[in-house]
Amino acid sequence: MADIYIRGGWIITMDPKRRVIRDGAIAVEDGVIRAVGKREELDKDYRYHSKVVIDAERDIVLPGLINTHVHLAQGLLRGCADYLPLIPWLRDRVWPLQGNYKPEEALVSAQLVVLEMLKSGTTTFLETGLVGRYGPDQIIEFLHKSGIRAAVARHVMDMTGYALEENILHEGLVELGDKSFKDTIRLYNKYHGWDNRIWIWFGPRTPGAVSIELYRKISETAKELKTGITMHLAEVKADVEYTMTKFGKKPVEFAQWIGHTGPNVVLVHVVWASDEEIKILAETKTTVSHNPCSNMKLASGAARISDMLREGVNVALGTDGGPSNNDYDLLREMKHAALLQPLRTLDAQAIKAEQVLEMATINGARALMLDKMIGSIEVGKRADIIVVDAWKPHWKPLNNPVSHLVYSAMGSDVKHSIIDGKLVMFNRKILTFNEEEVLEKADKAAWSLYERAGICVKPDLEWPIE
Ligand SMILES: [Zn+2]
Repeated sequence: MADIYIRGGWIITMDPKRRVIRDGAIAVEDGVIRAVGKREELDKDYRYHSKVVIDAERDIVLPGLINTHVHLAQGLLRGCADYLPLIPWLRDRVWPLQGNYKPEEALVSAQLVVLEMLKSGTTTFLETGLVGRYGPDQIIEFLHKSGIRAAVARHVMDMTGYALEENILHEGLVELGDKSFKDTIRLYNKYHGWDNRIWIWFGPRTPGAVSIELYRKISETAKELKTGITMHLAEVKADVEYTMTKFGKKPVEFAQWIGHTGPNVVLVHVVWASDEEIKILAETKTTVSHNPCSNMKLASGAARISDMLREGVNVALGTDGGPSNNDYDLLREMKHAALLQPLRTLDAQAIKAEQVLEMATINGARALMLDKMIGSIEVGKRADIIVVDAWKPHWKPLNNPVSHLVYSAMGSDVKHSIIDGKLVMFNRKILTFNEEEVLEKADKAAWSLYERAGICVKPDLEWPIE
């Protein structure tokens, strides 16, 4: 007998044939997908009967979304850093706030971000860089409890710059010597592989904050430990200037030189990339995490995603954080990814909805080296499945579910979420932790952080508030 039986609706499998099954059904047992097919056939098979039957007749069923660039510690920073380009944005707002965190506030920020992701269809994500002052252990333990799947990178650094700006990092975030490297190893030994839902990655800081020796040590150790590396790269023009001036290399050439390319590497943004660099990314099977909202908001530029896809680069999708997006809703991110390429190229066919949905599912799974486990609805894979409510005006007429998912849907359309075969959200209610409590704690924790940092104490609003 199955544990969960999903019955009816459109199933967008994302399997190797990219089958889309109308009026389909899925049986889940022991965390695994046991059967996928037409409802009329599965209904007849008693092995798939279950006490838990999800009626999805008016819904769209698809693999859980995979967000490949998340800053858990930026949840409380939403609305605190509008209208700034990247470097002043970091120096004057984001870092001073993050550098003032107390662990209990950082935990609330992580809880808020996870809540928002679960409620908008994300079932797996890649955190870009926890640091010691956030209390990474308690955050990871919460992630496990929440039911979500996560690769958690810990920031590694031994310098305090960003690109050509030296000593720019906020003192509260500085971790020198081998402290951050050693703590990543400690977290790896403690949590990596926990219930096949938590992985520990290396999160080297952006060039300017890490020595070449340390970058090389990270790439060697990641290979030995069979884990991943994620790093921001070529987000703004200043990043290109840095690697060209200091090393005579373009950013992707630099990444390759320090060992930060390959199937275990997720490079974030890569907005400024030449044809030669795109070829390196494709040849080395390096993933690019594309974050269109963040790139637009911080005026960083438009990444050459349609060119990368044409060259065979594995491009995945990410939201980035609270002060750069300002949401963690991957369905909304898909729409922006789909819109940015036609705008950039003046070609209405620059990218298709099918490609964007691949970026948010199977390409994300490949980025995290989990594509044998998740990323599609296939017999034998772990059951990470979301059910999206299509009985709404913006879903009608329901003539093309993939187009509607990318161009019309929003996170709040997600009704149920199953991760590793367990219901984590049912009828939009989170079953693994108290969401009311998180919402209540979020405002309190944010204000205590703002006051300590002396930033964001007053809303950055041009109009009077009475
Ligand atoms: Zn980022």
